[in-house]
Amino acid sequence: MKNFLLHLFFLLIILTPTQAQERSSFYATMDSNDAEKLKMELPQEIEIITTYKGQSAVLLTEYAANELQENLILHGPGYVFKGSKEQAVKSLENDFLSQTREITNFTITEDVMVNAALDLVQEINIENEILELEGYGTRYHTKTSASQAVMDLKDQWEAMALASGRSDISVRLYYHTNTNMPSVILTIEGAESPDDFIIVGGHMDSSNYSNQNDAPGADDNGSGVASVIEMSRVIIDMNFIPQKTIEFMAYAAEEIGLVGSDEIAAEYKNNNINVEAYVNFDMTNYKGSTEDVYINTDYYISTTLNNFLFDLMDHYNSSGAHQFTYGTSICNYGCSDHYSWAQQGYDAAFPFEAAFGEHNPYIHSSQDTYSITGNSEHAAKFVKLGLEFIIEAAKSQTLSTNDIIGNNFKMLIKDRKLIYQLNNLNDSINQFELFDITGKRILVVDDLQRSGEISLGNLANGFYVAVFDFDENGTLAKKFILN
Ligand SMILES: [Zn+2]
Repeated sequence: MKNFLLHLFFLLIILTPTQAQERSSFYATMDSNDAEKLKMELPQEIEIITTYKGQSAVLLTEYAANELQENLILHGPGYVFKGSKEQAVKSLENDFLSQTREITNFTITEDVMVNAALDLVQEINIENEILELEGYGTRYHTKTSASQAVMDLKDQWEAMALASGRSDISVRLYYHTNTNMPSVILTIEGAESPDDFIIVGGHMDSSNYSNQNDAPGADDNGSGVASVIEMSRVIIDMNFIPQKTIEFMAYAAEEIGLVGSDEIAAEYKNNNINVEAYVNFDMTNYKGSTEDVYINTDYYISTTLNNFLFDLMDHYNSSGAHQFTYGTSICNYGCSDHYSWAQQGYDAAFPFEAAFGEHNPYIHSSQDTYSITGNSEHAAKFVKLGLEFIIEAAKSQTLSTNDIIGNNFKMLIKDRKLIYQLNNLNDSINQFELFDITGKRILVVDDLQRSGEISLGNLANGFYVAVFDFDENGTLAKKFILN
């Protein structure tokens, strides 16, 4: 395939010697070896502005960008689009690899919650999402159908947020400078540490180098987006209330140089947002290698975060109903949106569907359809890894038996009774609701006194969420274990 493309490329050069030079060009950062190689092959198509520690700021024609994507690298664009020369040069000066940063020490403590989440993963949901995304025909970033796919996901996420009845879940569009396609973000605000962020994401756009009107992008990256959506569905359906803020992202314009994620990650960095970890999902449904999940080990990847992912899979997926295997692989400079987060100095990781080079060979063509894979068995493993990561990194807010919530309201679980007391004389309790781990409402009590007991005697052991609705001070949701 590579040789064929190379021949095609020289043929094009001979047939259209001036056209290539007329193509629009843009600024980017890329691996300096790739830049040198391109400069030798296509001297008219790239200008190397400056090089610093293995990265180059370049002025690149779209032609050279396509050539880079097709022939020099294994996956992804291989460069990061930058809106100006200054931004490109500044990115190199950031020198993120040399920065010392505080690394979060993640632990594995949420077995009950994680195992409940893994049981809720539905392959049929992933299948339906991929088919729906494929159905747009193309999600190339300049096409209206690409923006429509983002708007539709926004509507879908808003409906999920509304159905949950929770006020800590919100959805927003993110408009970009360098593409008309927006990104979309679902946020679950952390109940205890809202300023600490745990993020997962994947790109919504698709590409077909030979015809951008026919880019179904089922695996690249309908599968990754479908995986992220299924993670969000499970988290919301089980009424998971995190200590830290969780965000689910679907990006615009990854295929033309990580445009969506680059702008978002840069803004988070500018606003000093503490993103503790980012995990990327780009292609999850084609099993091309012996092992199931391949963890990216490029130089810009966080080793600590990778080790956490290995620990999670050793703990949750080495045996039993949710068993799968893993290996490691590399994917090069700017290979997908996790690079944008790494370039801002955040810990990022990337689990991929196969060893690089053995991944789905039909991507970036009209043949990247769901029928190639036929089921969502492979993608489900990535949803499970994502859920393990989200739940263990963000942690569940759990009420212990002697928990006291501020001075205004106290509540505790004792002898299979929920005991509560409202001390704020300016408020009263409107309603009490109890939800089980699947989000099902199993108890409603109106007209509560200022203090009292609610019997939990008949309930099975497990996780529950108690929700008090106050007349003046909103709602309070607390998770507890009954055992
Ligand atoms: Zn992709």
